[in-house]
Amino acid sequence: MDLLKQKILEEGQVIGDNILKVDSFLNHQMDVELFNEMGKEFKNRFKDTKINKILTIEASGIGIATIVAQHFNNIPVVFAKKISGSNMDKETYTSKVYSFTKDKTYNVNVSKRFINKGDNILIIDDFLANGCAACGLIDVVKQGSGKVSGIGIVIEKGFQIGRSELEKRGARVESLAILDKIEDGKVYFKSQN
Ligand code: 5GP
Repeated sequence: MDLLKQKILEEGQVIGDNILKVDSFLNHQMDVELFNEMGKEFKNRFKDTKINKILTIEASGIGIATIVAQHFNNIPVVFAKKISGSNMDKETYTSKVYSFTKDKTYNVNVSKRFINKGDNILIIDDFLANGCAACGLIDVVKQGSGKVSGIGIVIEKGFQIGRSELEKRGARVESLAILDKIEDGKVYFKSQN
């Protein structure tokens, strides 16, 4: 998606040799016009797929997923919670996720009321690196006897193992921008994307 790639080149900052910081339009301040274009693009890529619900993970996935949902006829968006506070249902589907950027393991929790047999779920997330977050979400969908219809990623780090981990689990992955490498503070995209 050219608009997104252009934005990454203009505003993305490389941290160390592996992390892309995009907080001016994706992870902190959000570019709603760009989100809207991303929503259109996800709808186009999944137009022939049965989808009745979107699942994402707090916090960065929520904004994107909500706009994406508007392009899928305003279907509901569920976000997995990392902290299960006192206002969370006691009956939850839970999976352990290792965070690549924070170097720690946390639980993702979704109330059993919001994933059901017969659900065809599109998983949306901001980044795909090693696939841990998305695998946790797949696990939660399976616990609820739902079906994963596809996985929509904004930025895939194509040099990490995320895609193969998800495809191993039978998931279709669509990424709007795929990074081929990060080198000397610069990002390079995969040419076919
Ligand atoms: P994974 O679970 O696929 O290993 O990593 C994906 C998660 O880690 C994303 O939800 C995102 O929050 C975070 N992440 C991984 N790599 C990057 C990166 O280069 N930049 C940013 N901003 N987040 C990342």
